[in-house]
Amino acid sequence: MTGTFVLSLDTELAWGTMDKGGFRTYRGHLERTRQNIESLLALLGRHNISATWAFVGHLLLNSCHRETTGADPHPDVLTARFPWYDHQWHHHDPGSDRQSDPFWYGDDILDLVREARPEHEVGCHTFSHLPMNDPAVSRDIAASQIRKCCDLAASRGLRLESFVYPRNHVAHLDVLEQEGFTSYRGPECSWYGNLPGPMVRAGHFAHRLFGISPPVYKDLQVTSGVVNIPASMFLMPPDGIRAMIPGRSRTRQAILGLRKSARTGAVFHLWFHPWNIGTSGAMLDWLDTIFGEVARLRAEGSMRVMTMASLAEEVLGGTE
Ligand SMILES: [Zn+2]
Repeated sequence: MTGTFVLSLDTELAWGTMDKGGFRTYRGHLERTRQNIESLLALLGRHNISATWAFVGHLLLNSCHRETTGADPHPDVLTARFPWYDHQWHHHDPGSDRQSDPFWYGDDILDLVREARPEHEVGCHTFSHLPMNDPAVSRDIAASQIRKCCDLAASRGLRLESFVYPRNHVAHLDVLEQEGFTSYRGPECSWYGNLPGPMVRAGHFAHRLFGISPPVYKDLQVTSGVVNIPASMFLMPPDGIRAMIPGRSRTRQAILGLRKSARTGAVFHLWFHPWNIGTSGAMLDWLDTIFGEVARLRAEGSMRVMTMASLAEEVLGGTE
């Protein structure tokens, strides 16, 4: 049997936690992100592993500006007002440029990813990390967010094919199909997800603490012409309470998933945000261990590495 390893990276800088003020909490992480991305690309290069980098569309910009004070700097992109958020969605957008506000623009990161070898895929994570499943996000709003990303990518000579939903909340799949996407990352199908409400958190903690084997996937589902490549495992950073869970639980869990995928011919899909790497260096060490196992399994002929788009193409019958 040959397993398949897929790695997707939610590339969002400050946008990912904008509505929770995370750009203040994680300032140190964000300051370090570019350096960490260079280290991660070098690590991927050393192990010859291609990844899908799902970019927040705004990061493809080098600058933007407001016409007047308080105006939305992106009136061409529809957003929503949410009862749980006091601001206009682009309120924190600095409306400046990368030199002044490097947490909000990332055209240089796109260049790094595109110049790296092996070749990586550039995917989409919405224009401004809008929660696509919120009832306030209509189909038109979803389409506007996604189309803007496609336009920005096209201006850089790229075609977007793979989609990652903010916080993995899936919605508006028909819009993905309409805009030419072939895959998305669905939520992890965990054993504890079906437990009674209060037990879910306890189940999740036990799953992590004991490094229980993560889900792998044999038959990928296609909805509205788009392949669901569900998550197997989020590589948890050692922040806050998560620091209580030892690193070896994470690497053990990933290796169990990789070996199960190799044994059964299934897909193991790992993901995280590059800003999660933070300041400790621990995550890069864990990744080196995990990627080393991928390379070992590949060398013995029981593992292959695919981007989300290449796997979707195979599922949809586009390859020999
Ligand atoms: Zn902007």
